[in-house]
Amino acid sequence: ATPTALMVGTGRAAKMGVLIKNGEVLEKVAALQTVAFDKTGTITVGKPEVTDLIGDSAALQTAASLESASEHPLAQAIVNQAAQAGLALEKVTDFEAIEGRGVKGQLAGKEALVGSAELTGADATWREKAAALQKQAKTVVFVALDGQVIGLVAIQDQPKASSKAAIQLLKKRGMRTVMLTGDNENVAQAIAKQVGIDQVIAGVLPNEKADHVKALMQKEKVAFVGDGINDAPALSVADVGIAMGSGTDIAKEAGGIVLVTSDLLGVVRALDIARKTFQRIK
Ligand code: ADP
Ligand code: MG
Repeated sequence: ATPTALMVGTGRAAKMGVLIKNGEVLEKVAALQTVAFDKTGTITVGKPEVTDLIGDSAALQTAASLESASEHPLAQAIVNQAAQAGLALEKVTDFEAIEGRGVKGQLAGKEALVGSAELTGADATWREKAAALQKQAKTVVFVALDGQVIGLVAIQDQPKASSKAAIQLLKKRGMRTVMLTGDNENVAQAIAKQVGIDQVIAGVLPNEKADHVKALMQKEKVAFVGDGINDAPALSVADVGIAMGSGTDIAKEAGGIVLVTSDLLGVVRALDIARKTFQRIK
């Protein structure tokens, strides 16, 4: 494509809220075969809410006390729920965030853990209770005190209004779609089904996302779409990194494209403009 055609393409995209860093990125978009998405905040709204509690209010209070020290979206949902229930929070010491797994700390002389089944050592009975909720697309976190699970909290994060339509349009254009998430397989599959994602890669630790993108790139040209600090390495390594405008600054710097309105239809617009730009010339 001529420099003028590239300028026209990126200019048209910018008017639609799709900020493409340069003509080279636009060319790579035209060659894409697969789009991989982060789940939370990318496919979903990223504003999760508590829907179920198994256990008593002490379990919710323990979870909220510990999560008040965390910045994770799940933590926010739990703290909000405890506030609505009028629960007072206890003081946490020795707080520690365990990436992709949960949080840990001391509460009134006891060791508290909130997070995945692996982190909290939830047994088969607890995991079964969780599985039923996970199949409804709810993320489950377990609450443990001194090595004993005392409850679980289910949290739901809805897909964005346009996610399903955007994924459908990408598939219509011949793209394969993938979800890469740290969340549990059941939850990931349930959300993938709601929005029509082809392949799910679940239980991915934050530092593993980039490796999964690299593995996909062995066979196909891959875009990765994400919003979080943890998504930055995957955004950098992908053939095309696409960051949500609502995302962290680190994600936006790592992406070759930023979607101003954080709407996945922006991925479709980028693809259409890129294909048009490169068909015309060749
Ligand atoms: P995602 O890829 O959906 O953004 P993360 O990698 O942030 O997910 O987290 C993966 C899993 O780790 C969560 O589903 C949850 O089980 C657990 N987890 C992470 N952080 C927390 C937290 N602050 N509180 C409870 N659970 C957590
Ligand atoms: Mg995210």
